[in-house]
Amino acid sequence: MKPPQPETPLSRPAAEPLIQAAVDTGRMDGEVALRLAANIHRPGLLDALADGAFASKQRMKGDRITVSRNVFLPLTNLCRNRCTYCSFAKQPDSPEAHTYSLEEVSEVVRGGVATGCTEALMCLGDKPEVAYRSHREWLAERGYGSTVDLVREACRIALEGGMLPHTNAGILSAEEMETLRPLNASMGLMMETTSNRLRGKGMAHFHAPDKDPAVRIRMHEEAGALRIPFTSGLLLGIGENDAERVATLMTLRDLQARHGNIQEIIVQPFHPKPNTPMRAVAPIRDDEVVAWVALARLILGPEMNVQAPPNLAPRMLERLARSGLNDWGGVSPVTVDFINPEAPWPAMESLRTLTKASGQTLKDRGPVYPDWLLGRPEFFDPKIRKHLLRLATDEGYARRPTHQSDEEAA
Ligand code: SF4
Repeated sequence: MKPPQPETPLSRPAAEPLIQAAVDTGRMDGEVALRLAANIHRPGLLDALADGAFASKQRMKGDRITVSRNVFLPLTNLCRNRCTYCSFAKQPDSPEAHTYSLEEVSEVVRGGVATGCTEALMCLGDKPEVAYRSHREWLAERGYGSTVDLVREACRIALEGGMLPHTNAGILSAEEMETLRPLNASMGLMMETTSNRLRGKGMAHFHAPDKDPAVRIRMHEEAGALRIPFTSGLLLGIGENDAERVATLMTLRDLQARHGNIQEIIVQPFHPKPNTPMRAVAPIRDDEVVAWVALARLILGPEMNVQAPPNLAPRMLERLARSGLNDWGGVSPVTVDFINPEAPWPAMESLRTLTKASGQTLKDRGPVYPDWLLGRPEFFDPKIRKHLLRLATDEGYARRPTHQSDEEAA
């Protein structure tokens, strides 16, 4: 079927066969996705899109939605980049600048274990030692040659304490990823966008060399070559347009076709933050989040794990639950979302209740999805796989260190 031209309006009856073709074939072309994105305001079209994406998700994922109970360890909030939407990164002279000691890592890990968490999310700024002498000195005083050395030690502590690390430390070299692989259940880097336009003057990534799309694609390629189970994603609302969103999803689909190591794709809406250059930018509308979760599902196909963070579109959760996602991502009973501190996590029990109200069941996973853990051993170093299996049920879901049931731990 030849897709209609982007400038032609699209009604629901005209859109339905295009959506159904994507459900049937397990993929959607970029031109069709772009056309649908441009018409989501038309009567009934968003519903048709979400229904199609939900049908696609049901084919491979069934009635389950997963969640990972985690702790968030922002090992350092120093960063060499200055993305204009970010409130996480601090300058070294800020009273809020902080780099974790190993004692602090241990303390958070103990809190995670006590509350039934299995995932230790190591999330931090990009290579602050390149920009800040004070951070280089802080590292050297403790015997670290780089921030990655600190990450490695923090991963060891998490593993010894009974949790499974997932590291997102920004741009890493292949060598750095290789040394982290045996200590990590999975790793990640949000692609965010493949738009070079956003690196231009006045745009979100002008002062962020690590947001150069070529650099991010290179790291995805290298993680693929190293067979690292990888999390990536699309960031919505930082100045990109629909065509750039589609191009980002297409790039992720191509990477997955080449390497097969992308375990999940996050569709994450940007929330404007006070005291940032983008504080006055209008937040992305909730119905747009639904539309892009649905388009991500239809572009990436029924096999991909598609995730939307439940704290970033709290008014739309029931609708989101039926828009093609099969995962709510990490939710913590212990730590806040340090990237979006204004957005509290929903209580696990309310997430369980609303998932049930959508006709689906919430299941707890670790940082690795059950089918990856049980069916793709080649993606894991034997050392880390031993830890993964110890913290998994026979079906590959999370086995809590404290042996709590889902309801007890909610
Ligand atoms: S968004 Fe990430 S890379 Fe950009 S400034 Fe913040 S911490 Fe650094």
